[in-house]
Amino acid sequence: MTDPFGEGGLGELESPLYREALAQLDRVAGVMGLDDNIHARLRVPQRATVTTFPFRREGYYEVETVFAYRVQHVLTMGPTKGGIRYAPDVNLGEVAALAMLMTWKTSLMSLPFGGAKGGVRVDPTVLTRPEVQRLTRRYTAEMINVIGPDTDIPAPDMGTNEQVMAWIMDTYSQHVGHAEPGVVTGKPPELGGSVARREATGRGLVSLLPAATTHLGFEVEGSRVVVHGFGNVGQYAALAAHEMGALVVAVSDVTGGIYNSKGLDIPQVQEWVTENGTLSGYPDVDMVSNEELFELECDILIPAAVGGVITRDNADKITARLIAEGANGPTTVDADDILRERNIFVIPDILANAGGVTVSYFEWVQDLQNFFWSEGEIVARLREIMGSAFEEVLNISINEGYDMRTAALVKGIRRVARAKLVRGVYP
Ligand code: GLU
Repeated sequence: MTDPFGEGGLGELESPLYREALAQLDRVAGVMGLDDNIHARLRVPQRATVTTFPFRREGYYEVETVFAYRVQHVLTMGPTKGGIRYAPDVNLGEVAALAMLMTWKTSLMSLPFGGAKGGVRVDPTVLTRPEVQRLTRRYTAEMINVIGPDTDIPAPDMGTNEQVMAWIMDTYSQHVGHAEPGVVTGKPPELGGSVARREATGRGLVSLLPAATTHLGFEVEGSRVVVHGFGNVGQYAALAAHEMGALVVAVSDVTGGIYNSKGLDIPQVQEWVTENGTLSGYPDVDMVSNEELFELECDILIPAAVGGVITRDNADKITARLIAEGANGPTTVDADDILRERNIFVIPDILANAGGVTVSYFEWVQDLQNFFWSEGEIVARLREIMGSAFEEVLNISINEGYDMRTAALVKGIRRVARAKLVRGVYP
């Protein structure tokens, strides 16, 4: 095997998250005895598009230029799939790492996709709605030959939402001359979007908790839950856990965390955030910092915001027995070793947060067939797919002696490796 990176570091893919993604792949490739040629191939993405483009700010003559990316990691399994994030620190290496995670995730869930991810290096919180619209339409135009219902299907990720997906669908459709709902998922239902997509990641994650807690010998009802992040994933995970009878004792957002040992009233917290934009100022609770949040006494910890938050500095201080990862890449490889030594049961990101891409898959299938399912059908199919993926990962973990993260990665990587071997090398 010749390593595609040669001796020169990670070149243009250099970034902390890409290093983490590679360290994870290399570790698992070693324990599962992955074919050397396939291992080398999977260390790099197949296609990466880097573009810079201008968009108009509110002052007509104020034009800002930004970097934007779309990375497709594996094209072997079908079209590629993955979200688009708008964040001020997005870079090629980060997007490539997240695309790699999407490959493992879609493969683990047996979806007919390879992994992709997109991003724009911009802070969406300082942009007006028309600015976000112009930015999104130009991003779509730049990627017009890259994305498509048969090639690469974006979806929401950090900093993007249903409205952004609607603008992508509209711009793409204007370019091809007819409505093309299947180009993107996570759209509003009026455009062929799926009901229950927004809640799917958080709710899908919580649907795994009963099986995980039963395995560990406790119950979700009455257990103490801490959620890091109150965006699309954290909010619905907190709500679903609350509805299941858990005490959600703390949640947080970028402004910090709120804590109540008797459990927070999550629907009320949601209302507050809808009205005020952030958790800041929420009454009758103790304030905690995002750092303190990870050390709070609890049974279940759900990191559901940015990556790289569970590190070797705080992994020792976590009290939870169960960690369910709503975010992508929340645990560094170092921290993961500590969690493994401490015997903390982890439902890894590629399994725990796979509800989002699974309902995205349903949405895409419905768009291609112009035949739409009921909410009950979507939720039932989601639960079934999530539940059986969890059981399979748990079985691999028990039968082959791996921790849950390794087992999930082994299952995901194995399927991609087999597909690559039977397709062979062209020409
Ligand atoms: N951005 C989400 C993820 O990281 C969803 C991707 C999708 O629905 O395609 O899984």
